[in-house]
Amino acid sequence: MATGNTNRRNFIKTTGKATLAAGLATTVLPSLANASALDAPFATTPYTQTPLPYAYNALEPVIDAQTMELHYSKHAAAYAKNLNEAVQAEGVNTQQTTLEQLLANVSKYSAKMRNNAGGHYNHELFWKCMNSPTATPMPTGKLMDAINRDFTSFATFQSGFNDAAKGRFGSGWAWLVLSNDKKLVIGSTPNQDNPLMDVSELKGMPIFGLDVWEHAYYLKYQNRRPEYVTNWWQTVNWNFIQQRFEALA
Ligand code: MN
Repeated sequence: MATGNTNRRNFIKTTGKATLAAGLATTVLPSLANASALDAPFATTPYTQTPLPYAYNALEPVIDAQTMELHYSKHAAAYAKNLNEAVQAEGVNTQQTTLEQLLANVSKYSAKMRNNAGGHYNHELFWKCMNSPTATPMPTGKLMDAINRDFTSFATFQSGFNDAAKGRFGSGWAWLVLSNDKKLVIGSTPNQDNPLMDVSELKGMPIFGLDVWEHAYYLKYQNRRPEYVTNWWQTVNWNFIQQRFEALA
C-alpha cells in the first residue's frame, strides 16, 4: 500500500508539473483528483500547484466556471510561481523546509514571500474544501461534536463564520482554526495571511478557509459578498474537512 501511495504521489507530482507547463488548458480527470485529495498528507502542502480536484464548472451554479478558471489558472498559479521565485531568491531549501515551517517563520522573509507563501497555501487548501453543490451539507461525527462543544450549535457556528467572512474589510480570508489548546475558533486574516504565520493575530491550524477576495466572486456576485458567502456553504466538502480535522485534532 505504501508503494502504491508513493507511486501515485509521484505520478500526481509529475502530472501536476505537466499540467502547469501546458498552461492548465485541460481539466483534471476525476480519478486523479480523488487520488490527490486522499493521498495528500493533511498537515503539509507542496510548493507547487496540485491539480484542481474537479472541473472548472463543478461548483456551478454557486461559483461559475469562468471565475474558477481565472482563480485557479491565473491568480493561484501566480502565487505558486512567485513563491518559487522567492524561495529561490531567499535561499529556502524546499526539500528540508515544509511550507508550514516557512509560514511559521515568515516574518524573517520578504513581503513577496509572505504574500505568495500565504496565497499558495490558502488556495491549495481552499480547492480541497469544496465540491459540487448539494442542498444543505452538514458535518457529522467528531467534527460536529467539536462544533457543538465550542459554538453550542452548528447554526451559531455558521452565523459566526458568516460574520467573519462578511466583516473582513477589503481582501482576506475567513477561517475555522484548531487552536493550540485544541479548541475550534473562528476568525479572519487580511490579504493572503493565514493562522500558521508568526505575524498573524489569529493563530492555529486552519481546518478550512473561505476566500473573500473580490477575484473569488466578483464576476457572478459583483458587490454582493454576503450572497456569495451564504451560497458558498452548498459547496463545502465536509467529507474532506472532517478527515482533515480528525487527522489534526
Ligand atoms: Mn483567491
